[in-house]
Amino acid sequence: MKIIMLGAPGAGKGTQAKMIADQYGMPHVSTGDIFRANIKEGTELGKEVKSYMDQGLLVPDELTVKILLDRVGKEDCQNGFILDGFPRTIPQAEVLDKALAELGDAIDYAINVDVPDEHIIGRMTGRRACPTCGATYHIVHIPPRQEGICDGCGKELVLRDDDKLETVKKRLDVYHEQTQPLIEYYQEKGILRTINGTAAMQDVFTEIINILGK
Ligand code: AMP
Repeated sequence: MKIIMLGAPGAGKGTQAKMIADQYGMPHVSTGDIFRANIKEGTELGKEVKSYMDQGLLVPDELTVKILLDRVGKEDCQNGFILDGFPRTIPQAEVLDKALAELGDAIDYAINVDVPDEHIIGRMTGRRACPTCGATYHIVHIPPRQEGICDGCGKELVLRDDDKLETVKKRLDVYHEQTQPLIEYYQEKGILRTINGTAAMQDVFTEIINILGK
């Protein structure tokens, strides 16, 4: 089975993608994770993509498509995969479809995790992270025992640049402009399934399993 996860940044599609990957034993392919790993390792690719990511902008299609096609060409993806964060533009979707069609293959489902912008802003700007151990909290939903302090290591929690209001708004603008058109693209292909992403994590997962089958 070949699946695409669609949804705005912060909609929870990454969490669901990992749960689906575990459930069906398929590789979880996240272009964001691949880019972050390259930045951490200081590779040429990492250097190239960092400034786009820091500004909440998309990495150019040509570069992203190459990385993605390399990854899904690997042995472990031959029986299926779940894509998280790709495609993010119509040209990316077209290249993927073409590459699969050449192999006589196609995407089976595009799962759209739908969450309104106001909800996403509340989720992301309320996040707090520990700069030492990486633990994450939410000022309302997962508060630390002592306000502003990490439960694990006692360090002061921070609001990540990524989660600042201005950056979140910028990423939502980019999403509406460049990624949202994919909803119609997959709708026309008859493989779009939209689910309510504001429900509890486990309920969202159950809804997805009902679509994909056991
Ligand atoms: P994510 O972890 O999926 O939210 O991705 C983090 C960042 O990586 C995005 O804000 C983009 O800068 C970049 N990125 C990830 N996937 C793509 C993609 N398919 N196309 C362009 N840029 C991407």
